[in-house]
Amino acid sequence: MFDISSIYQAQSVADAIRALEQDPGALVIAGGTDVLIKVREGKLAGCRLVSIHGLEELKGISQAPNGDIEIGPLSTFRDVTYDKIIRANVPVLGEAADMAGGPQLRAAGTIGGNVCNGITSADTASTLVALEAVLRVRGPRGEREVPISRWYHGVGKVDLAPYEVLTKIVLPRKGYEGFTGHYIKYAMRSAMDIATLGVSCLAQLSQDKRETRQVRLAFGVAGPVPMRAPGAEAAASNRPVEQALAAIGPAALGDVSPRSSWRASREFRLQLVEELSARALAEAMRKGGAQV
Ligand SMILES: Cc1cc2nc3c(=O)[nH]c(=O)nc-3n(C[C@H](O)[C@H](O)[C@H](O)COP(=O)(O)OP(=O)(O)OC[C@H]3O[C@@H](n4cnc5c(N)ncnc54)[C@H](O)[C@@H]3O)c2cc1C
Repeated sequence: MFDISSIYQAQSVADAIRALEQDPGALVIAGGTDVLIKVREGKLAGCRLVSIHGLEELKGISQAPNGDIEIGPLSTFRDVTYDKIIRANVPVLGEAADMAGGPQLRAAGTIGGNVCNGITSADTASTLVALEAVLRVRGPRGEREVPISRWYHGVGKVDLAPYEVLTKIVLPRKGYEGFTGHYIKYAMRSAMDIATLGVSCLAQLSQDKRETRQVRLAFGVAGPVPMRAPGAEAAASNRPVEQALAAIGPAALGDVSPRSSWRASREFRLQLVEELSARALAEAMRKGGAQV
């Protein structure tokens, strides 16, 4: 059984914040697919939980009149993959969400949990980084927005102050409009395994589809937190497509700092970085209409 001291079911976000304030040290639980594993492993044994599970105000995906896409953090991986707005505007995010775990996991795990856990291998994280997402959080002192470039502070550490709750993941229109994208998860098996390396590439092409305009590249497990690859992006942007393809992998090697783990050595991860950057860019450009 699970060793949990107490669990409080919040009735609203305001109620969750109040409960967290009244019980410093209590932890938010959403889908529970990270938290409950840690409880079972003993790392969070005896914890006190504030559940936001089921809160309607944290669900749903909508598009604002200015085109920004707002994702409720309680959207499950499956909700994201099958949502019409995501499919029409940022299918790459739905594809990344569809790589997590297996069907049961995708029906329970939330995109909010996937960015709040601060884990470099999180399958939606590198795509959200490439999309320049903005995280909206609410706490006792009100609401604030954090660009995802300032969200990750270190392994398992994100820019959430005590008693704050993530309330929206915003995809600004300028971050996705005109781009096509592709996410590749390299794992030791094709389901129920976390990424050995994840790479997400977004490409914007010239009108004749022969040159890149902007390329964005982001990785999971190429460093302690999900990260952009600015050198690779510069090397692959505003180039004939073949040149961009040749340049992106070698340049990406200068951006990353993977480590060796039991899943893979640093050297193997570097090989993946080089090869998968080019493959992800090729596919992103193909989706945009380039002949590659
Ligand atoms: C069998 C299995 C396979 C898995 N495979 C994958 C995989 O392939 N890819 C992958 O990326 N992940 C995988 N995971 C990890 C996990 O499913 C995901 O990270 C998931 O997105 C977590 O979401 P959750 O709602 O379950 O989070 P929870 O466990 O509820 O919470 C995770 C963390 O986020 C915090 N949190 C959650 N929501 C909020 C919020 N709105 N505001 C503030 N803090 C919040 C919690 O306090 C906690 O620290 C796997 C897990 C399991 C058990």
